Amino acid sequence: MRILVVEDERKLATDLAKALAGAGHVVEEAGNGEHAWFLGDTEDYDLIILDLGLPKLDGVQVLKRWRANQRTMPVLVLTARDSWSEKVEAIDIGADDYLTKPFRMEELLARVRALLRRQTKHSSAMLEVGEILLDTRHSRVTKAGTPVDLSPLEYRLLHYLMHHAGRAVSQIELTEHVYSQDFERESNAIEVLIGRLRRKLGADAVKTRRGYGYYTGELDEGAP
Ligand code: CA
Repeated sequence: MRILVVEDERKLATDLAKALAGAGHVVEEAGNGEHAWFLGDTEDYDLIILDLGLPKLDGVQVLKRWRANQRTMPVLVLTARDSWSEKVEAIDIGADDYLTKPFRMEELLARVRALLRRQTKHSSAMLEVGEILLDTRHSRVTKAGTPVDLSPLEYRLLHYLMHHAGRAVSQIELTEHVYSQDFERESNAIEVLIGRLRRKLGADAVKTRRGYGYYTGELDEGAP
């Protein structure tokens, strides 16, 4: 999943990026409110972690502008201790969850998993499609109970497809959610990754819908 971390404390931003990347996410960062507002307004993220105390434009204003512009991605707000009024305001203007600093990284990761699940129909940390089971807590994949060794990119791609099981996802969307923006890649990179996933998981683990993209499971009724 593609996550934006908005935090001006360098150390915390780095720790957050590291922990989220370790959990299999693509992470981008913004260190001030204006940059964050621009990225959240123009890019497509699966989730945003937003510190409220930011230079240039504070987090509450950033969130207010996103929501006023119909940007509906889940937003997890980080607040300083003893700022209950800030929390209330953030929730009122559309934050989906909050964490008070300092927090344990494990708790942040658990809340991130919960928010990502809430977007779709998933109710547990395990994604299941046929014989394939993807454990989002430990970034592990098994097929019929046997562990399958995937590279970080293969895992991200499979995670995104299983998260959206039943929907054909275009190559452009997959590229956005699997690679960091500055990552050098070949134009057929997604096809190559899909080929590797099929070799490791079975030819029909990832299916092609001509003209639309790739999907796992059965296509939803009424899907294009
Ligand atoms: Ca701050």
